[in-house]
Amino acid sequence: MAQMWIGNRWTDAADGRAFEVRNPATEELVDTAPRASAADVARAVAAAKAAFPEWRRTPGLEKAEKLHHAARRMREDREGLAILLTREGGKPLLENRDEIEWVAACLDYYAEIGRDAVGRVISPVARNQFNFVIKEPYGVAGLIVPWNYPLLLLGWKLAGALAAGNTVVAKPSEHTPLSTLRLMRCFEEFPEGVVNVVTGYGPEAGMPLVAHRDVELVAFTGSQATGRKIAVACAEQLKKCHLELGGNDPFIVDEGVDLEVASKGAVWACFLNMGQVCTSAERFYVVGKAYDEFVDRFVAFTRTLRIGDPLGPDVDLGPMINAQQREKVEAKVRQAVSGGASVVVGGKRPEGFSKGYFYEPTALVGVTPAMSLLREETFGPVAPIVRCRDIDEAIALADASEFGLGANIYTNSLEHAMKAMEQIHAGTFWINDPLTDNDAGPFGGMRRSGIGRELGSEGIEDFRDSKHVHLDYVIGAKSYWYPYRFERPKE
Ligand code: NAD
Repeated sequence: MAQMWIGNRWTDAADGRAFEVRNPATEELVDTAPRASAADVARAVAAAKAAFPEWRRTPGLEKAEKLHHAARRMREDREGLAILLTREGGKPLLENRDEIEWVAACLDYYAEIGRDAVGRVISPVARNQFNFVIKEPYGVAGLIVPWNYPLLLLGWKLAGALAAGNTVVAKPSEHTPLSTLRLMRCFEEFPEGVVNVVTGYGPEAGMPLVAHRDVELVAFTGSQATGRKIAVACAEQLKKCHLELGGNDPFIVDEGVDLEVASKGAVWACFLNMGQVCTSAERFYVVGKAYDEFVDRFVAFTRTLRIGDPLGPDVDLGPMINAQQREKVEAKVRQAVSGGASVVVGGKRPEGFSKGYFYEPTALVGVTPAMSLLREETFGPVAPIVRCRDIDEAIALADASEFGLGANIYTNSLEHAMKAMEQIHAGTFWINDPLTDNDAGPFGGMRRSGIGRELGSEGIEDFRDSKHVHLDYVIGAKSYWYPYRFERPKE
């Protein structure tokens, strides 16, 4: 059985309980992990709280060395981590190797960002004053993450939180706790209690972490439904809450673009990790004359994708994470078809797999705005494709959403690109370049897709609070103190 990492010790749950982690491609047991309860969360928070006074005062250079060291250890264990990620999460091995490198690069980036300025000097309002702002860590940060990119999404928080001087208690998803526990080997050189991991279920381990009085800040990535519960619990205690939630990202294809490139980009943006990416392209709006050829090319290219064991070579798509997620997707496709949409590729479980949560990459036409595929997050390999009259209609439909995580456009027209960029609410906007990441820029959601930003300088600022310091270097009584002297108004 894997063990949790609390106060730099490997440990079981206090009551000895554990849960199973199964491989979504084979349904076989990968390992078991401790099923933490509030008592284990309290132990981890106490360790993080005890470590905070020393960690917050650790010089930037020393913190940077530790973060770089963790990044080096990750690169040394890249294959072991990637294989475990594949076995518990189902993404193709190649994508998981990339995930390890991205996390290591993120740790390296924040190691250096953490050494930069931690405040600013302000022009005073009177002589002999010196005014400055210092940026301070909050204290213990509770980090809760989902299963689709278990290490990347944790890494984005962990790197910023630690570089800012916070100590952390992380809770990975119950579907993918094992790679996070293995990741902790890379943090063994950190001082005792700076980084802690508890594993278990949301209500049993996640909520006690959110509600713990000594947790000063909660950073969460996951579904809107859970995000709302966490926001409410944080509001109860007036606690800072950072939310990275779901999306229903639009993808516009304009007339005149190279449709071979645009359709391949669209297929990748839609089906990467079986559509289980928060910024998966989930709604396709194709303008006028581009429509028929785009659909044909999208369907033809989708048919070439290879589904199989994600550990095997030459596999483009693995399984979905679990039976429940697959059933959700199947229900949405069924609902669209019963409302008049037509499946043009996929739409069923592939043949030849007696085990595993596989589903064919799917595209539909004839979808209408009322269908849930165009209104709610699908989080699966489904592309509803909509024909639009012109670019203005495409932009209006793309923006007609309560979400605002990401948005894409393929166009040759600078005017159309700029119009779409200005009018569509999205924390990330991709022009002819779907789904790329860059640690140095902010990531997060507008509208109901989240609160706050990760990555970039914004991603460390969200883990720091501001303290404005007023200093008078010539001690003296002020003219505006008591007793007040003022002239009576003339009658
Ligand atoms: P989820 O909300 O079910 O779970 C996320 C995490 O929250 C897990 O660790 C879970 O155990 C925990 N949790 C569940 N209930 C809880 C509770 N009551 N209190 C505290 N913690 C609780 O999400 P998921 O199914 O694991 O992940 C998929 C979702 O994540 C999708 O909606 C996707 O869009 C979103 N996501 C967002 C981003 C982003 O950066 N915006 C990135 C990836 C995924």
